[in-house]
This record gives sequence, C-alpha cells and structure tokens, in this order.
Amino acid sequence: MSNKPIYVTVPSLSPMENFVEILKQAWDTRVLTHNGPLVQRLEKEVNKILELESTIALTNGTIALQLAIRSLELKGEIITTPFSWIATASAIKWEGCRPVFVDIDPETLNIDPKKIEAAITSDTVAIMPVHVFSNPCDIDAIEEIAKRFNLKVIYDAAHSFMVNYKGKSIMEYGDVSCTSFHATKLFNTGEGGACFTNNVELFEKLKRLRFFGHNEAKEIVEDGLNGKMTEIHAAVGLANLPFLSEVLSKRKAIYNIYKEKLSHIEAISFQRINESEYNYSYMPLIFNSEEECLKILASLNESNIFPRRYFYPSLNTISAVKHYSQMKHSEDIASRILCLPSHNDLDFDQVNEICDIILKNYY
Ligand SMILES: *Cc1c(COP(=O)(O)O)cnc(C)c1O
Repeated sequence: MSNKPIYVTVPSLSPMENFVEILKQAWDTRVLTHNGPLVQRLEKEVNKILELESTIALTNGTIALQLAIRSLELKGEIITTPFSWIATASAIKWEGCRPVFVDIDPETLNIDPKKIEAAITSDTVAIMPVHVFSNPCDIDAIEEIAKRFNLKVIYDAAHSFMVNYKGKSIMEYGDVSCTSFHATKLFNTGEGGACFTNNVELFEKLKRLRFFGHNEAKEIVEDGLNGKMTEIHAAVGLANLPFLSEVLSKRKAIYNIYKEKLSHIEAISFQRINESEYNYSYMPLIFNSEEECLKILASLNESNIFPRRYFYPSLNTISAVKHYSQMKHSEDIASRILCLPSHNDLDFDQVNEICDIILKNYY
C-alpha cells in the first residue's frame, strides 16, 4: 500500500473551475451575504432535489438544531440519544434546555422508542432523535408518543441528506428536521446546514431568527441571531450539487465491497438498515469487543489508514455535558464501533486493501 494516508473521509469537491465560475457572480455584485442570490439559488436547488419547499440554509448544522429549538420556544427537558455527535446534546444545552438521554436499539443504533415513555416527565417538551449514519429512526413510533404526550419532535438529520422515508424526503418529518452541510458530510458547503419544516409560520420564523430577528421590513421582531449562510459557502454547495449522484453511487459501491468482503467474519456485525432508506455515507463496523476494535484500529493505523471511532465516547459519559447515567447499549456499541474510510476520492483497490488488512486479523 502507498504511504499516502487514507482518512475516514475527505470532502467531495467539484472541479475548482466550477466553484470559481459561480463565485464570480459574488465578486461582480459585491454581495457576499444577507441571503443573497447564491444562497437563494442553493435553497431552490435543494428544494428541487429533495422535492420539498422548506429549505432554510444556515451557517452550520449545530445552529440549525439550536434555531429549531428556539423557533419552537422550548423550555425544559428534551429527550435525545447518547449515541451521536456532541452537537446534538450541546445544542439542547445552549438553548437553555436539559438533555435527557434514552438508550439506543443496539441493531439500528437509533434511539429505542420503547424506552422513551419511561423518560417523560412533567418537564419534557420535546424529543430530538438522530437518524444515525442516515438510518431512519422508528418515525411512526416516535410520532405516536409525541402526539400522545403533546411533545415537539426535532430530527437531527445531519447524516441523512438524500434519504427518502416512505416515499418522501426524510427532511419532511418532525416539527423541524435539521441537517449539516459540513465538509465531512455527504453533501457539503464547507461549513453549512439547513432546517426544514412544513409549518409555514415556523418556516417564516426560522428565516427571521437566522437574520437577527428581522422581518421583511427590517424591523426587529424576534430575539434572533446570525445564522446566515454566506454566498461563498453557497457557491461551494452549488458547485458540488451536480456531482451528488456520482458521490452517492460511489459511497454505495464502497459500502457493498466492504460488506461483501467482511460479512463472513462472524465477529463483525453491521448496522441493521433498510437498503432503500440509507445514503451509505458511513461504513460502520461493530466488533465483538473493544479490545478487538482497538486491535483492528491499530493494525489499520500501521498501514497509514485512519478509520474513526464514531461515535465514541457515548455522550452520557462526557462529564462536561451532563452527570453520568448508565446507557447500557450506547456505551457498549460506542466502545466497539469503527467507521471505515469511505469517500469520493477512495478507489476500490484501496477498499480491497483495507478489507485484506482486516481479514488478516481473523484468518
Ligand atoms: C455533523 C453533525 C452535527 C453538527 O453539524 P455541524 O454542521 O458540524 O455543526 C450534528 N449532529 C450530528 C449527528 C452530526 O453528525
């Protein structure tokens, strides 16, 4: 194997000329921000691709989560998953609410809806599940509980761009869905994110909140912040969009090679997914033990290959966020899961070599 390091992911980028061509417009007009024409065009194109009408482009996915909480005027406890990126929990705290963790289903890796009810108190105001690695949550069960207890639902759909669930974009579910266009995500604008909502009032409110609370007449009518995406970030996204289907099929092909070569290893298991409701942006492997996981990680690192322990550690164990409470499955899975390299610049020979290194540890 060559000595060039192989990382878990690398941003998918269009040829630079495509970006520069789009950027020229911003240079010519001197419009760099304030929901300019490129941001508006990006929102329109995302609407078209996802077949919805509710895209609100933002600075990043964390701000998307915070604005979703803010737009619903939530105060109190928000039930969420400990098996996620830190932003899921920190967004709740930064909006003055308290995250309450509910353990995951060890096969889907998503919040276990059967455990939600027991965590509901008189202070519970919302549920914020994550579609982990783009695998849709048990949306029906979550909506049923939310309805019964009069709770709002915000989906952290940071991983889920281009996933359809029951015939429509997964962004159409919940009171608000939030996604990330961070450099490491399937579709990226460098930094970026978006909220989606089918509630027209909430849609307008989110647009005001991202723009200091301004209404169309530039009066301050909300307690807002600055969540605006810049024209430069929108240009990165607009340049990348035409390559999205290529990016998607490459990831799926990589996933299939890994799965085919590694699925006979009894000591390795995979996230339980529905193949048609997944975007294949991550390649998670679940080992039998943490020891085994660390051994494989070390042997890949020796060959200059850098998978990531996503998500590790389980958020309930991070004392900077919250007092510890045991989350059996999340802690267990977090200790023995690795995401293997998967990105647009990875070639199939490299994928095969990574598989061979893993296989050598077993046979
Ligand atoms: C990436 C990510 C976020 C945060 O998105 P940013 O755009 O990086 O702020 C939130 N939740 C999950 C699950 C993520 O993976």
